[in-house]
Amino acid sequence: MGNCVFCAIRKGEIPSAKVYEDKDFMIIKDINPQAKIHLLAIPHTHVPYLDMMTEEGVNLLGKILHKISKMQDQLGISDGYRIIINQGENGGQTVNHLHIHIMGGEKLKDM
Ligand code: AMP
Ligand code: ZN
Repeated sequence: MGNCVFCAIRKGEIPSAKVYEDKDFMIIKDINPQAKIHLLAIPHTHVPYLDMMTEEGVNLLGKILHKISKMQDQLGISDGYRIIINQGENGGQTVNHLHIHIMGGEKLKDM
């Protein structure tokens, strides 16, 4: 959509370190990692905010969480991880294409 960085990554217009992709979403390495392992799970469909998700879209988020849990060994996060969605300005969302942060690979600091 427009000049969305995640849509551009999906189309291959911007390079990324992709670790997984299927028909619904991709997982890439965050360009500015906040933990030893910091991945982003990004649905292919451009929906800017969590509060704009349809019921179908929210079901996809559940599917993505399930997939992450099944892939935790290959993602290198089997000792535990943190999942975050930033919503809107107060949530610190900077890329307006809904995505899920996956952080792990080390003992994370308390929030
Ligand atoms: P948020 O603040 O929740 O919107 O998170 C956006 C995330 O996208 C940040 O952690 C950025 O480091 C990350 N990011 C921005 N541009 C890229 C990119 N080209 N490739 C990978 N990650 C990116
Ligand atoms: Zn997008």
